[in-house]
Amino acid sequence: MHSQRNSKNGLSCKMVLQAVGKVLRKSKTKPNGKKPPAEEKKQYLEPEFTKIRVVDFDLKELVVLPREIDLNEWLASNTTTFFNLINLQYSTISEFCTGDTCQAMTACNTIYYWYDEKGKKTKCTAPQYVDFVMSLCQKLVTDEEIFPTKYGKEFPNSFESLVKKICRYLFHVLAHLYWAHFKETVALDLQGHLNTLYAHFIVFVREFNLVDPKETCIMDDLSEILCTPAPLPAPLPASSAPTSSPSPSSQNHVTER
Ligand SMILES: [Zn+2]
Repeated sequence: MHSQRNSKNGLSCKMVLQAVGKVLRKSKTKPNGKKPPAEEKKQYLEPEFTKIRVVDFDLKELVVLPREIDLNEWLASNTTTFFNLINLQYSTISEFCTGDTCQAMTACNTIYYWYDEKGKKTKCTAPQYVDFVMSLCQKLVTDEEIFPTKYGKEFPNSFESLVKKICRYLFHVLAHLYWAHFKETVALDLQGHLNTLYAHFIVFVREFNLVDPKETCIMDDLSEILCTPAPLPAPLPASSAPTSSPSPSSQNHVTER
């Protein structure tokens, strides 16, 4: 599964670069390969992009612990799925995430450093960081002692803390995708998948308190938009709108979940 990051998605690099060029020209940003400054408008917050999802139901229904399912089993199954999906989503733009374009693992104004097994802080490029994340996650979710799949095998005491660690790292990858690779994601027409994956992930980690809000706050602006149910289709003009249409306030109200 780890090798998915290097798989091709059927579109040639040239085609994607042409499409990225169009997006860049449209947004009047110079295609110089450099990171946008922090004060630059975040393209991923524009309504034309945030309204795009691949599902339109309340994701909260998907994440609540079903009756008669063991909590650890539920966390293990969802964490493994998120690892695979985020790995796959990153693979779609991995050829644009290089040591030159992403010299550090950035998201908003944050630079993430990798801490090795001895706790030594290391500055690394984004692709190196993502590689460390995916290798670690792969190692953990396939370890029978940590994510047991055989009947009767117990989860270790450290299970919850390891799930939290995996989710924290996966959040860093999602944040980097938005911050550094949203234009390429739009060029590939995959923003609906990214938005849906991100919203599902955030609703899940909030439900089980798996990532410290201090960690996720850098993306709160996007989370608040995406974690509300998908916007309804544009209302009809006032003259022809049926009187039973939902009030605008019910669509615009943002709630903390
Ligand atoms: Zn990158």
